[in-house]
Amino acid sequence: MDCIFCKIAAGEIPCNKVYEDDQILAFKDLNPQAPVHVLVIPKQHIRWAYDITPENSAVVAHIFEKLPEIAKICGVEGGFRLVNNCGEDAGQSVPHLHFHLMAGREFGWPAG
Ligand code: 5GP
Ligand code: ZN
Repeated sequence: MDCIFCKIAAGEIPCNKVYEDDQILAFKDLNPQAPVHVLVIPKQHIRWAYDITPENSAVVAHIFEKLPEIAKICGVEGGFRLVNNCGEDAGQSVPHLHFHLMAGREFGWPAG
């Protein structure tokens, strides 16, 4: 499959790794939108949030369970913004489920 995040998960494309275990990988975004901007992905290919099912949701839970540890590794203490873009209308540009963990600046709401 020609998926850039699958290739990063497989080690075929280099990344600036922050955290890895058997199920998930966290690495620095190539085009950071905040002083801390990390992408957290399942190693298995899930296209987008629409494809989260009872069969594969354990890895999504695992991502959320690891967020405190990943934030701590990144030196984040005062909180973080977590973003998932699902589909082109929301700005998803890479069709492999990922969560943006961002911190280190002020964030607007609902945008920015
Ligand atoms: P999306 O727009 O799909 O929500 O987020 C995709 C993110 O992946 C973007 O923030 C973009 O900068 C990042 N990205 C795209 N290609 C690469 C890559 O090859 N390596 C890394 N580290 N980040 C990437
Ligand atoms: Zn993939």
